[in-house]
Amino acid sequence: LTRLWAEHAWLGGERAVPSVLIEIAGERVAAVQPGADRDGARVLRGLTLPGLANAHSHAFHRALRGRTHRGGGTFWTWREDMYAVAGRLDPDAYRALARATFAEMALAGITCAGEFHYLHHAPGGAPYADPNAMGEAMIEAAAEAGIRLTLLDACYLAGGFGDTPPEGAQLRFSDGHAGAWAERVSALRERPHARIGAAIHSVRAVPADQLATVADWARERGAPLHAHLSEQRAENEACLAAHGRTPAELLDEHGALGPSCCAVHATHLTDGDVGRLGATAICMCATTERDLADGIGPARALADAGAPLCTGSDSHAVIDPFEEARAVELDERLATGVRGVHPAPDLLRAATAGGYAALGWPEGGRLETGALADLVTVRFDGVRLAGTPADDAVASVVFAGAAGDVRDVMVGGRWVVRDGAHESLDVAAELRAALAGVAP
Ligand SMILES: [Zn+2]
Repeated sequence: LTRLWAEHAWLGGERAVPSVLIEIAGERVAAVQPGADRDGARVLRGLTLPGLANAHSHAFHRALRGRTHRGGGTFWTWREDMYAVAGRLDPDAYRALARATFAEMALAGITCAGEFHYLHHAPGGAPYADPNAMGEAMIEAAAEAGIRLTLLDACYLAGGFGDTPPEGAQLRFSDGHAGAWAERVSALRERPHARIGAAIHSVRAVPADQLATVADWARERGAPLHAHLSEQRAENEACLAAHGRTPAELLDEHGALGPSCCAVHATHLTDGDVGRLGATAICMCATTERDLADGIGPARALADAGAPLCTGSDSHAVIDPFEEARAVELDERLATGVRGVHPAPDLLRAATAGGYAALGWPEGGRLETGALADLVTVRFDGVRLAGTPADDAVASVVFAGAAGDVRDVMVGGRWVVRDGAHESLDVAAELRAALAGVAP
């Protein structure tokens, strides 16, 4: 039994709770007792939170950070840079880059990540000897970094609407048809730290008559199903031209939406789309959406329609779960001129339990008896949060905290980060080495 005493802890309510004893047995929380004496337990100074989830990651995009701004460009020129990195990765380089990126996430308080994985095959499109070599590299990378992973294996078959064949780097993404995708993904094994989910890369990349194959695969297994949705206006226009339907309408028509589905971005929606997405989780990726000039999605309207929100760092322009969470509110303030439509506890819920649920770990992302023992302590003795009043601790962490304020991180009852340092990896050195070979 591990006994921890949190100076303050967020137990899901409006405010932080003082003096919380947290007992951990194996990888689960055995008891949570507010107002407890320290009584020899290990002290966690600051605010202790449930583990944070990063519900949408492409680990290899970390190689693009800071390198795609010269000359401005568009989403579509950014995509060319991304394809160039994708073209240089083999399973070993993919694993090294992902291990370093997942370790950077651990330092930021992320205990569970959803890897939206589409780089499946060798250059030119031939399968590796193990057709899941790239996915296995992701699963191993997460284990080495010490975090949980849901491998969201993405079906990617076409270069665009109208069955445009994949070309260039896209050849590595394609299994040819959805049946072959399903066969390959069915061979992936879950581990204690890793679960398997499905993804429809986008309505551009999966022909309409094959969407149901992916949706059915996920439904039959009770696995999460994720999809990029309406990130760019050009995608909506092309979808309307090809199918006479918006991307949300097309996914719905083929049975892809619903409680085990998570739509990523959901930036450019019609009012009808918002209603249609009410039972589907929505992953907002604000720092990437800013970086790519995507736009600001209607998070409040989606939440009002019933959609649970979660957050993701997507292209890893930065990795900071606090920035992702507050941006849901702050970006919407800029767009609407209205303040305070997403209260701080709601944003923290999106970044914790919301993400865990969308990734198929509903037993995580909360500090309560029986939950996974994944937790994060944010320090209040650094310059950013010094002097934080206890009553405003939750809002202070959400609206002013940063990845660099994370002091201790536990995943499944094991310390992964202590006093701001990763337990087993020199993360900056790992990043330097991994990026040297592959960055543009
Ligand atoms: Zn993405």
